[in-house]
Amino acid sequence: MNSSSTGLSPSDYIGIESELGAHNYKPLDVILARGEGVWVWDTDGNKYLDCLSAYSAINQGHCHPGIRQALIGQAANLTLTSRAFRNDQLALFYEDICALTGSHKVLPMNSGSEAVESALKAARKWGYEVKGVPAGQAEIIVCENNFHGRTLAIVGFSTDPVARTNFGPFTPGFRVIPFGDAEALETAMTPNTVAFLVEPIQGEAGVIIPPAGYLSAVREICTAHNVTLILDEIQTGLGRTGKLLAEEHDGIEADVTLLGKALSGGFYPVSAVLSNTEVLGVLGPGEHGSTFGGNPLACAVARAALRVLVEEGMIENAAAMGAYFQDALASINSDIVAEVRGRGLLIAIELVDEAGDARHYCEALQKRGVLCKETHLKTIRFAPPLIITKDQIDWVMEQIRPVLAA
Ligand SMILES: *Cc1c(COP(=O)(O)O)cnc(C)c1O
Repeated sequence: MNSSSTGLSPSDYIGIESELGAHNYKPLDVILARGEGVWVWDTDGNKYLDCLSAYSAINQGHCHPGIRQALIGQAANLTLTSRAFRNDQLALFYEDICALTGSHKVLPMNSGSEAVESALKAARKWGYEVKGVPAGQAEIIVCENNFHGRTLAIVGFSTDPVARTNFGPFTPGFRVIPFGDAEALETAMTPNTVAFLVEPIQGEAGVIIPPAGYLSAVREICTAHNVTLILDEIQTGLGRTGKLLAEEHDGIEADVTLLGKALSGGFYPVSAVLSNTEVLGVLGPGEHGSTFGGNPLACAVARAALRVLVEEGMIENAAAMGAYFQDALASINSDIVAEVRGRGLLIAIELVDEAGDARHYCEALQKRGVLCKETHLKTIRFAPPLIITKDQIDWVMEQIRPVLAA
């Protein structure tokens, strides 16, 4: 039976995508047509528990009714003015996000990559105009195995050959150091360093958690050198790790925090650069912008996405269910599991070399109604919506155990 309203079969969809689309993804062959909470359904009506959450953009669950209401309501009023005019939603979004995160200034953008690019631009300008770095000399430090998006400047400082090969020449001014190594940061600092850009936990690299004390050491080093600490919390932020921001686990505050993904609960691309210092203050009229950034639809959606995250206790649930899920995974008795690691509901299983590709296990889990995605060859990431319940985790575990025992 085919429950899709389009009348196309799964192989039709795959064939059309293959013929007409750029092949820059290798998705699981499941064609989703509906989502609600932690669940999604394919065009044949099969039901799956989503353990990826669109790379953590769906922290609030699929089609959250509160966010949907905000989207529909605002769509009937006003969707886009551009920033040539003001709209009656932007100020309210600024107030909400600043109150929640303790930030002082906000730059609204759309995609995560744009937030990263925007922060790098602002940090450079701050370096020249406030720190006093000589013209054209600004340096920004980043980490090995980083993932900050796909635009040219960003892939230029990626260390993943797949992300960067044949996309050069690249933007100069970046220096790469090992992740989790505070001494390497101290050594890399020069008088021209304007910023250190880092993920609190490296998500795409495979949920890599730095050693205890790393982020607080990083905070101290950046302060000592008058360097802007930019934390990319596009994946780790908004409750994913069991705190609103992952920086809270280490009791630090970044100078600039980047949010995206779950900032809209998956309804709409919304990202933001949040600043504690005067970094964003250096941007004047005409020096940066985005036609869609800060549009009233985005602002209304983001406000609702933030509200339900807090009001419905999703952050606390992520902490409790994350611990429960990690304990359950760690108790699996399997020769092919090398390690289970995670924080909150950002979790990875690392397979041993002899296990074969992680993709194979994701496909086996798909057959059992669990959707997850490998990251690199040997890592399976589990990042379900933050509303997941104990019973649902128990059910997921019933699917995972036989797959990893096989
Ligand atoms: C997803 C992600 C980005 C890029 O966001 P896009 O919306 O895909 O451009 C940047 N940084 C991190 C840590 C991410 O996980």
